[in-house]
Amino acid sequence: MILKEFDFKKSGIQSWDEVFSHPQPLTLKIIKTGSVVINRRGTINPVHPNAVNVPSEDLEVPILSYLVRHEEQGNYLLDAGLDASYHIDSRGELEGSDVDKFYQGLNENIAIHLKGIKLKGVFFSHLHADHAVGQRELSKNIFYVVGKGEYDDYRPDVHGDFLDGMQTLYEMDFSQADVILPMGPSVDLLGDGSLWAISTPGHTQGHISFLVNGLDGPVFLTMDTAFIRENLERRVAPGDYTWDVEMAQETLEKIIKFLKMYPQVRVGPGHEL
Ligand SMILES: [Zn+2]
Repeated sequence: MILKEFDFKKSGIQSWDEVFSHPQPLTLKIIKTGSVVINRRGTINPVHPNAVNVPSEDLEVPILSYLVRHEEQGNYLLDAGLDASYHIDSRGELEGSDVDKFYQGLNENIAIHLKGIKLKGVFFSHLHADHAVGQRELSKNIFYVVGKGEYDDYRPDVHGDFLDGMQTLYEMDFSQADVILPMGPSVDLLGDGSLWAISTPGHTQGHISFLVNGLDGPVFLTMDTAFIRENLERRVAPGDYTWDVEMAQETLEKIIKFLKMYPQVRVGPGHEL
């Protein structure tokens, strides 16, 4: 695996109002490639005072990817979901001391959803298997991008080598990005204000959320800063599977502030349709 720096230009944009006043011709399609069982207590950090009455119960939630189709700039994938191996093996044939289990129906894998669609690249929100392992069945002639620092925490011995087969991974350095408040470092991925990567650390070190600025209104994809809508409603970030719970909470509060400032923005949590 070769790590390279993802090249982008500062847009000079200083406010989300400016972004939203120039929507672009792109559409967003949500793709489900499987499901995972999580516990409500932990999905909602039980230590937080707003979460004292959250019951311990299993939730089966979807594993999601997003296809972004830009009329002029082509097709991009946000997270790669699961490849077909999960239909027969809940561990996706990965070897490691703590490999996550996921479930998949027949023909739910990412390549089936993308049949006939030519992708230019994949942007990963973060490197947890349920967001990345689908890359194993995608073309290697496209680019793959992750937030800088994310790969430092990649542990194939523990979670399995789900980046197997990838030749080059590009890292996005948010310290070089425009800072657009209240969110912070934000990268104009396609250079026309249509698709934004926003630094949202906490769930993992290099975690990214996305904003799709389409003609039918902006959509903010929290990815794993909020697993389910209840995270946003209770204003409590997840505690489970989280690199820095305190930072994850700060990031979630920033997102809630952003959504309050811009009520026209629709929001999609990372594991709820
Ligand atoms: Zn995750």
